Amino acid sequence: MSSPPHPVIHWFRRDLRISDNPALLAAARATPCVVPVYIPSTWNHSHAWTGPNRQSFLCQSLGSLSRNLETRGGRLIFRSGKAVEILMALAQEVGAQAIYYNQDPDPFGKSVEIELEKACIQHGIECHGFHEVTLHGPSEVLTQAGDPYRVFTPYSKNWLSLEKPLPEGLPASLDTPQHLRSESAPQLKHWSLQAAASGVLEGGERAAHDRLKTALAERLSLYQGQRDTPSVAGTSRLSQDLRFGLISIRKVYAEAAKALSRARSKTSTGSIETFIKELAWREFYMAILHHFPHVLEEEFNPDWRGLPWDEPGEKFEAWKAGRTGFPIVDAGMRELRETGFMHNRLRMITAMFLTKDLHHDWRWGESYFMQLLTDGEIASNNGGWQWSAGTGADAAPYFRIQNPWSQSARHDPRGEYIRRWIPELKEVPTARLHEPPSDGRPLAADYPLPCVEHSKERDRTLAIFKKHKESR
Ligand code: FAD
Repeated sequence: MSSPPHPVIHWFRRDLRISDNPALLAAARATPCVVPVYIPSTWNHSHAWTGPNRQSFLCQSLGSLSRNLETRGGRLIFRSGKAVEILMALAQEVGAQAIYYNQDPDPFGKSVEIELEKACIQHGIECHGFHEVTLHGPSEVLTQAGDPYRVFTPYSKNWLSLEKPLPEGLPASLDTPQHLRSESAPQLKHWSLQAAASGVLEGGERAAHDRLKTALAERLSLYQGQRDTPSVAGTSRLSQDLRFGLISIRKVYAEAAKALSRARSKTSTGSIETFIKELAWREFYMAILHHFPHVLEEEFNPDWRGLPWDEPGEKFEAWKAGRTGFPIVDAGMRELRETGFMHNRLRMITAMFLTKDLHHDWRWGESYFMQLLTDGEIASNNGGWQWSAGTGADAAPYFRIQNPWSQSARHDPRGEYIRRWIPELKEVPTARLHEPPSDGRPLAADYPLPCVEHSKERDRTLAIFKKHKESR
């Protein structure tokens, strides 16, 4: 009689799905006796880089993953503690000879992988890491000289020209030993967090697939014309799903490419192509973070390191609360507070406002967004903030400062988005929403006057940047 197979461990991280999961598929091909484990992070300092929205979406997605694994005969085990220690102890407990996982693109995640590899060598355990978070790894898209790109357009041309990996299916069947001890699934109190915002989307693999279906059926063929109009549901809303790996990027790309091949009009072709290019932005920023991890601490462009910024005080609090007196800025900040999401156009407007009108260090905004965004992705958030501050890779040059009033008139011409998020402005005539009050009176009884004068602050920013450049 042959002895039962040795179990293998699949370590779930930001790949919370059973379909098209390369590491899980490889583990299940080695043996059905797979022990899927999730190790919730244990930090007890202040939550400067996450908050209830993202963690609650994570908890819900773990519940769904747990149920989905059961449909294949698996069982999700929860153990908390330091990842490498937990994995080594679990391997010993079940007699596992191999650990499978999908790689994390963030510096902390990568450092844990290095520790894990060392520990596996020490204990004679195989360690299999898979690349799945992007279509192309950071070292796959390089210049002819073999260097990383610093600018998006040539990066995206190269990225678009590469053949894309195809999605795969589900693991055949799993057979997790039933007797294993598991802690209960983490809840917000695990991180001492309070309730999430009421508008956070539903987590889980099925909800993510439903969002992709809706995007394909209703949004992608009109994407180009609608993606910059925040009052319209014109974008895919897949960012949190890609952040937690509820759906694979291969699946999203493959479906978009199929839709492109079926598109018959110039509008839908151009729209789907634009959408695919947005996926390239995500990979561009992940490549930037991989090759230049110092962007998390300092400006990508060395010319702008050491810029003088104002200390955050009342104006920073007003920005966070959506009470700057600039309706478009306040609407974006309130959408973020109430839903854990902010439309991309608003992310650009509010980030540029904080850095160029309020002269606040982009790092304050970056960290605040990370605390609230359900899709908080270190690479994209840092890239977006440095772009807006004019300090990053492919950044808007410092002298290109958007005027929040004209942005407002252009992207929310009827004021629908503003009124949705600022009910006290419901009765204000549209034209008045897009300009500073000429009579010096607030737009509504409980709404503040603009906290700064845009043209003055713009001049101040230009002077600060110019002086800084000359002093170097
Ligand atoms: P769609 O327009 O449908 O785009 C499809 C996908 O492409 C998105 O889900 C996302 O994965 C990717 N994508 C689109 N635009 C960008 C972009 N500019 N940069 C990188 N990836 C992009 N995106 C995050 O996922 N997490 C963040 O933490 C994040 N922070 C940002 C901070 C700032 C200051 C700015 C300006 C942008 C930030 N973005 C971030 C990018 C962008 O705003 C969101 O990806 C987008 O709004 C998500 O909505 P969607 O899924 O409907 O996007």
